[in-house]
Amino acid sequence: MVAFLDLRAQQRRIATDLRRRLDAVLEHCQFVLGPEVAELEAALAGFCGAAHCVAVSSGTDALQIALMAEGVGRGDAVFLPAFTYTATAEVPLLLGAVPVFVDVDARTFQISPDALAARIAAVRAAGRLRPRALIGVDLFGQPADWPALSAIAAREGLFALDDCAQSFGASLHGARLGRAADATAISFFPSKPLGGYGDGGALLTDSGDRAALYRSLRSHGEGTTRYEVLRTGINGRLDTLQAAVLLSKLTVFEDELAARARIAAAYDAALAGAVTVPARVPDSVSAWAIYAVLLADAAARTALQERLRAAGVPSAIYYPRPLHHQPAYRDAHDGTALPVAEDLAGRILALPIHPDLTEADVAAVAAAVRG
Ligand SMILES: *Cc1c(COP(=O)(O)O)cnc(C)c1O
Repeated sequence: MVAFLDLRAQQRRIATDLRRRLDAVLEHCQFVLGPEVAELEAALAGFCGAAHCVAVSSGTDALQIALMAEGVGRGDAVFLPAFTYTATAEVPLLLGAVPVFVDVDARTFQISPDALAARIAAVRAAGRLRPRALIGVDLFGQPADWPALSAIAAREGLFALDDCAQSFGASLHGARLGRAADATAISFFPSKPLGGYGDGGALLTDSGDRAALYRSLRSHGEGTTRYEVLRTGINGRLDTLQAAVLLSKLTVFEDELAARARIAAAYDAALAGAVTVPARVPDSVSAWAIYAVLLADAAARTALQERLRAAGVPSAIYYPRPLHHQPAYRDAHDGTALPVAEDLAGRILALPIHPDLTEADVAAVAAAVRG
């Protein structure tokens, strides 16, 4: 039996340090915004070279706080890929803005800069919504095409937000993600490459003004004292215990990223010719959150899933529906066809990948894929 994710094996690797970290929190009892939160923020900013990091309660709340800080709301268009996790689209809607779904690149599966430019032009021509923000998603561990996306955002006057929930640890052109956009949102959901033991997230930015707003917004919009309320905020803080867990996980994060890359290379070699994989983004290092393969059609995917199940190999579909086809978002969509996202949803499949997958596991998965 191959595990899709093995959090127990990882826990054994950090057991001593983890206990020490948790015991320290149980000792000082500062369970909200305790010293571990600031220590984690400094470590994460240092990891990617960003000037500021603000830890928050989830990746979704990171996205929401970032858009709240820009005043995104009614009448605003927020551009985002149609092929991503639901959280990316839910946040603009919660703030009264409209998500404008953009198709993805057929080779890399990342948001397409050409499609983005066309969607912005169409929204401007329609004149109903004000183009305000772009949420680019680094899908499956790979970086989106940030040089192209940022150039479009700058030209169009859009706030550029990097939804890096799946891909913290990845690099593009020699630089770790965290500074590619105006702000970067990351997630510590347990299954992400840097996962905690519960929900958590963070915002990274080089802007001191933005970081100050994020700190205020995550604590009910507070000012310099707790009982001065400057703006409508949320309760969006990261628990001290989660910060302690993440500090412990950070001690092995680089090793885990290297292990994920090794396993992905082993899959690439073992599966060559048998399945299509997303094109690797040039001059980048993936965080390998997900190892995706593309089958010929939905029937081939179902057949492969059954073959894998029989061999004791779990698999998962990210994502079975493009967001513009979700019941919750259909009404927000203007009806534009997004053929690549629609096609991928019908035939994509994720194979197990985690730092503790063995060579024998990879061989077993590859044998099942090859049939
Ligand atoms: C996981 C994820 C999120 C949300 O993160 P949470 O911490 O679960 O709230 C947002 N966007 C993408 C692309 C994700 O994969």
